[in-house]
Amino acid sequence: MSVLSEVEYEEIYRDSIATVDASGKRVWVFPKKPKGRMHHYRIALTIVLLGLFFGIPFIQVNGHPFFMLNIFERTFIIFGQIFYPQDFVMFALAMIIFFVFIILFTVAFGRIWCGWACPQTVFMEMVFRKIEYWIEGNRNQQRKLAEQPWNTEKVLKKGAKHAIFLLIAILIAHTAMAYLIGLDNTISIATQPPSAHWAGFIGLVAFTALFYGVFAYLREQACIAVCPYGRLQGVLVGNNTLGVIYDFVRGEPRGKLKKKAAPPEDDLMAKITQGDCIDCTLCVQVCPTGIDIRNGIQLECVNCTACIDACDEVMEKVGKPKGLIRHASQDMISKGKPFKFNTRLLAYAALLLLLLVIEGFLLLGRSPVEATVLRVPGQLYHERTEGVLSNLYNTQLVNKTFETLTLDLKVRDDFGRIERVNGKPNQLTLEAGEKVDLIFFVDIPKKQLQEMKTPIQIEVYKEGKLIETAKTNFLGP
Ligand code: SF4
Ligand code: SF4
Repeated sequence: MSVLSEVEYEEIYRDSIATVDASGKRVWVFPKKPKGRMHHYRIALTIVLLGLFFGIPFIQVNGHPFFMLNIFERTFIIFGQIFYPQDFVMFALAMIIFFVFIILFTVAFGRIWCGWACPQTVFMEMVFRKIEYWIEGNRNQQRKLAEQPWNTEKVLKKGAKHAIFLLIAILIAHTAMAYLIGLDNTISIATQPPSAHWAGFIGLVAFTALFYGVFAYLREQACIAVCPYGRLQGVLVGNNTLGVIYDFVRGEPRGKLKKKAAPPEDDLMAKITQGDCIDCTLCVQVCPTGIDIRNGIQLECVNCTACIDACDEVMEKVGKPKGLIRHASQDMISKGKPFKFNTRLLAYAALLLLLLVIEGFLLLGRSPVEATVLRVPGQLYHERTEGVLSNLYNTQLVNKTFETLTLDLKVRDDFGRIERVNGKPNQLTLEAGEKVDLIFFVDIPKKQLQEMKTPIQIEVYKEGKLIETAKTNFLGP
């Protein structure tokens, strides 16, 4: 076999992903069961996260969901507060804040989200994978079962595993649906015949198929090939970013553990020819994305820390300090520099703070009613009574609360008088979430008008308290 030159090696090094073989076929990953300190922390966090995920749809505030993102009816309830499309600015800003936060977090701490809090990893590694270990055994037993011909044992184990996977997928699908349309609607779909809710039923079947497909078959490929956040890592992660990293300064040159006696203290050559990595490959065996962390920071690494636990256990056994694989940045390893908040991080943090302040002001100043007032197009003024000019307006009022509101309309500073068409009263009642369109005249004495286009403000009062103001113009001669 020819030895590759350095250039040839550079060209082929990491030019393919670990889960695809030379012929382009998927290499199924059979990760070794993780255990250790970090894994215990992950179990604790998983319990909290799963508790929140399955519990939140059951929380109600005054008979309404605590959290619901109803994209079909464009109604969003977040922490018990209802938001409508009229709150688009606030919603868009919240999205921007979310993305800036994710970027800031990633630039500083790498893919912690992926390994510890992302629903894909939490369900895959902490739920579905655990069931797989329970039924099919550890890495080697799973591989053996996959390779053996179909017999009773294989049918029973695979059948039981996939039946449980399907049940969990159904549970996740119903919970996800409850986040979209609320718990009561989801229960109705689940308990009534499909013909009563075709759209909802098809949605649940599609969700179930999606979750089952992702967790039973797609698995780590969702993080490697599908997730857009994963694809962004290349531009977000830098030399100062913390992440799961192999200390190559300490670990290289790697080599098998030799049983012979340790070199004498003054045998410098023996000391520098062997690093701390004993090349046991346990860090590779536990990796759920099938990579070797010793090859450096890689796109596939979801920072799950399974390799940290595996290596720490090895280091403990061979009597060397833990942390050969640890949370650190490239600069911390190669240059021995401590982690620091660099200019890029500080700039992101300042931007995030600014956006949060703006969002805070928007939330505090959020009116319970949205009013849009527009002059009826194509209409000029007319004199309905002697010396008084009138303009006609179209108005839309939206009640953005869960309560029934009684509202009054006025022109600011009593500059003019509002009169609804067809003699309807100016006071009106809006049910929770109701949207009404009204048409009214604004009458202003001619002598008060100084210019052709006078800016006026229409005020909305709730029980005598001003809650919303809409600006418009009044046309005169
Ligand atoms: S390299 Fe380590 S941290 Fe990264 S995915 Fe594999 S086991 Fe998890
Ligand atoms: S687990 Fe640690 S010692 Fe073993 S191969 Fe990986 S880095 Fe080297």
